[in-house]
Amino acid sequence: MEQLNTFGRYLKKKFKTKVSKIPLGLSGFTCPNIDGTVAKGGCTFCLNDSFSPNLVQNTGKIFLNLQSKNNPILKKQLQELDEQIVNTREKMRKKWGSQKFLVYFQAFTNTYAPFETLKALYDKALTYEDVIGLSIGTRSDCVTPEVLDYLAALSQTKEIWIEYGIQSVYNETLERINRGHDALNVEKAIKEAKQRGLNVCGHLIFGLPGENQEMMLTSAKAAYAWGIDSVKYHPLYVVKHTLLANEYMQGEFEPISKEEYIDTLMKAIKLKPKEISIQRITAGIDDGTLLAPAWCGLPKNTILASVRQALRKEELVY
Ligand code: SF4
Repeated sequence: MEQLNTFGRYLKKKFKTKVSKIPLGLSGFTCPNIDGTVAKGGCTFCLNDSFSPNLVQNTGKIFLNLQSKNNPILKKQLQELDEQIVNTREKMRKKWGSQKFLVYFQAFTNTYAPFETLKALYDKALTYEDVIGLSIGTRSDCVTPEVLDYLAALSQTKEIWIEYGIQSVYNETLERINRGHDALNVEKAIKEAKQRGLNVCGHLIFGLPGENQEMMLTSAKAAYAWGIDSVKYHPLYVVKHTLLANEYMQGEFEPISKEEYIDTLMKAIKLKPKEISIQRITAGIDDGTLLAPAWCGLPKNTILASVRQALRKEELVY
C-alpha cells in the first residue's frame, strides 16, 4: 500500500508537528463575479455560505470604497479574524492535537480589497506565534502584481499558499457556469504565482454541466501541467437558491453519481504527479440546503469510507 501525498502529511513532514488550516469568513469581502464587476449572480453553483462555515454577512461593494486603515469595516474584520482564529484554533487543538496553524482566508475572494486592507489582515493573522503561514483563496482574475509581490515577500519566512478555483479548463463549461474568466486566465495566474515562488493549490470540480469523464480528466491533467503544488477535488452538488438549482429543476443538468465521481477521482489521482499534494478528495453538505445529488448529503465519513475503499483497490491509502 502506498500512502498518498496528502496536504496533512506534507505539512507534518515540513513542520514536524500537526498543522491545521483555520478557515476564515470575514465580513466585507465579496466577489467580483457577484457584485457586478466581472459578472452578476456569481458562478451558477455558488451560494457562498454553503461552503464557508465562518461566513459573516458580507457588505458588498461598500467595503471597496473604504481605503482608510481606520475604516470601521476593517476594524470589524480584524476583530472577527481574532475571534475566529482563537476559537477555531482551540477546537482544533482539542480535536486533533494541532500545534501549528495555517490561516485560510476562505470565503469569497480574499484578494478583492484595497492592498492596505489586505496587508493589514494578512499581517494580523501572522502575528500569532503558532500561525506558520497563510492560504489565500481567490480568483485568478483578481490578483494584482502588488499583492503577489507582497505574498512572495512573506513567503521568505512563512508558508504562503494561494488557492485558485480552476474548476474546468473548457471555456464552454466556464461560460455555462458563469465563471467570469476563461482557462487562459487561470493558467497565467498560476504561472505568475509560481514565478514568484508561491505555493499554489488548484480546485477542480467533477460533474460540471455538459462535461464527461474525459473532459474532467483533461482538466486535471492541464492543472497538474500548469504547476500546481496541491489539489482539491470536489463533486459538483446543487444547492437550493442557486442558478444551478434552476437548471437542475428544469432537467437541464444531471448531477454526477457517487460511482462516477469516485471512478473519476481514482483516475485523476493516478494521473497526478506524486509531488502534488491532495488537500481534499470529496465534499458534501449537511445543512439542509442540498438539492442533489443525494449522496453529497451523506455524512462526510460515509463518503470518505467509499473513497478509501476505492483507493485501497488501487493499493493507495488516503
Ligand atoms: S468565484 Fe467563488 S465566491 Fe465568486 S461567485 Fe464563484 S464560487 Fe462564488
